[in-house]
Amino acid sequence: MDRTFVAIKPDGVKRGLIGNIIRRIEHKGYKIVALKMLQPTLEIAEKHYAEHKGKPFYQSLINYITSGPIVAMVVEGKNVIEGMRHMMGSTVPNDAQVGTIRADFAQTKEFNTIHGSDCCESAHREIAIYFKPEELCENWKTMMEYVWENMPEEV
Ligand code: UDP
Ligand code: MG
Repeated sequence: MDRTFVAIKPDGVKRGLIGNIIRRIEHKGYKIVALKMLQPTLEIAEKHYAEHKGKPFYQSLINYITSGPIVAMVVEGKNVIEGMRHMMGSTVPNDAQVGTIRADFAQTKEFNTIHGSDCCESAHREIAIYFKPEELCENWKTMMEYVWENMPEEV
């Protein structure tokens, strides 16, 4: 099954949105296989956002992501990378569709509440930054897994 890295950013934590965001992920049927709250160090933030180094917003992004605790997760599900990006909405909240996390909870592209990996390679890289392999809880089944196991073959 596909996996992605999701983080509720410091603004989301400070505003008390942890429960709301996790509820959306669970209601979608995705499986949270790892979850922790942590204060990102400068080293972690720089690793996570290495692709943006040199861009005009890089330093403010690093300041933002180290400004308080985040809630880091590994989320599993069918096409979950695209699915989570869809649920998050566009980087710029006013471009995001109403009903998405960023449209509903954020006002600016800088402080947009949630992170989700943008492709499979990023997901692998980001999961490894935040979690050791033994921190993933894999040996349990959700109801959705029952659904996938019992789905008729696609024709
Ligand atoms: N960001 C910013 N200014 C910008 C673009 C992005 O502060 O002009 C921040 C914002 O928090 C965003 C993060 O940098 O979520 C990473 O940017 P990216 O373009 O990768 O957007 P994302 O993948 O988070 O939608
Ligand atoms: Mg990105």
